[in-house]
Amino acid sequence: MRRLLLIFLAAASLLAQSAKAPVYWLLWFDTEDFIEASSNDASMRLAQELERMRVPATFKIVGEKARYLEREQRQDVIRAIARYHDVGYHTENHSIPPTGAVYQEELGLLDGAAEFERREGAGLRDLQRIFGVNASCYGQPGSSWGPQANIALRKMGIPVYLDEGRQVGYNEQPFWYGGLLYVFNLRQYMIRVSLDEEADLAKAKERFRQGFEKLRATGGVMHTVYHPTEFVSKDFWDAVNFSRGANPDPKQWKSQPLRNKESSEKAYRLFFELVKYVRDTEGVQVVTARQLPQLFAHPLRSITPEAARDHLRRQLGGADGHSAADLLLAALGMTPQYVDGPDARVTTTWKQAGIPRWLWERSRKDVIDYIQFHHRLPAWAWLGNDKLSLPDFAATLAGDSGSGEVMVRSGKLAEESRISTEPCKHFDWLIHPQGFCAPKILEMARLQAWTLKPAQLR
Ligand SMILES: [Zn+2]
Repeated sequence: MRRLLLIFLAAASLLAQSAKAPVYWLLWFDTEDFIEASSNDASMRLAQELERMRVPATFKIVGEKARYLEREQRQDVIRAIARYHDVGYHTENHSIPPTGAVYQEELGLLDGAAEFERREGAGLRDLQRIFGVNASCYGQPGSSWGPQANIALRKMGIPVYLDEGRQVGYNEQPFWYGGLLYVFNLRQYMIRVSLDEEADLAKAKERFRQGFEKLRATGGVMHTVYHPTEFVSKDFWDAVNFSRGANPDPKQWKSQPLRNKESSEKAYRLFFELVKYVRDTEGVQVVTARQLPQLFAHPLRSITPEAARDHLRRQLGGADGHSAADLLLAALGMTPQYVDGPDARVTTTWKQAGIPRWLWERSRKDVIDYIQFHHRLPAWAWLGNDKLSLPDFAATLAGDSGSGEVMVRSGKLAEESRISTEPCKHFDWLIHPQGFCAPKILEMARLQAWTLKPAQLR
């Protein structure tokens, strides 16, 4: 009887647990300091201690940092990370100019993607060679973000974008963008504890608790980011060398001011206290970037052309877990597939209110052919020598009655509102040149908002 009761209680508790969705928590480290040697010891201590605590983390490693570990013969550090933790990528050179946003601001979508691949590819290959795994994710240094990277990252076999930033977001939870799974712009769900202020520990636990409770009903993702170098430094390694675009001769690179032993121990203690608190919160599941794609439903689902047109008629944008691009492809009768957003914005030059049906049909077929050929939405549809901008084309397609002349409708993509309108503030990073702003990157990001949609947990 007693045994039966125990079985019953165990089953009831399992049911109660499964009734609530898990809140996934990612702990990640931007591992980037290739100047100060004690940052390597910090990486090792974090990796070892977290393994003892059974908390796998994601180390996003800079290419030059991986080579630095190799040069310093720190196989112990490499092993401590690789045997238990996940490895992601964090650029070839981090803060050595020009950084990502600086060179991507000068380039378009495709040449920007190619340049990202050229500049950042070598570090990724070194990381693979030194750590023996493919990087599970990528994240930019500072706020040096650009949407062109998405195309390159897909080509480089990296399916996840993991970082914080303000350039793009979706309700402070993960989303699909540029064909990648983004854990980005989580804001209130990004939790850190100050490594210096004792009093912040209780507050950080409370911040975590509040975020956790908000997500508890539906499930969701929270994350925490540190840099191993923070545990040994008083200032950032790159701040003392590369501030405001500075580019000193490597022979002149200097170490940052370091913490003393006491300050360093305090930093570790406050951090591990927070980690313990999160780990022991019932309903939290610790995950790494490598597990993320399995946690979310497949981004492509089929939808009928009629339903897609209905959505697009109500609002030119995504709906019901589909991106605007997904809906446009469905409305065109195409099979579900990922395609990039357009590489330019144009104004419609077609002046008449209606389009003869034969010309519209030719234009529609040409758009389908363009998408199949380029795996990208066209910036416009041709009507003879005239253009119908992509938003106007999509609105016209959605509103077409199917007979007689096709009435032209104008459209504006709703998801553009989810892209930052702060080209200076949201690229303000100590390492960028003074006054750096990236309006062209944000415009490109808006064009890629055709691909934006929330990521849905399985
Ligand atoms: Zn970094």
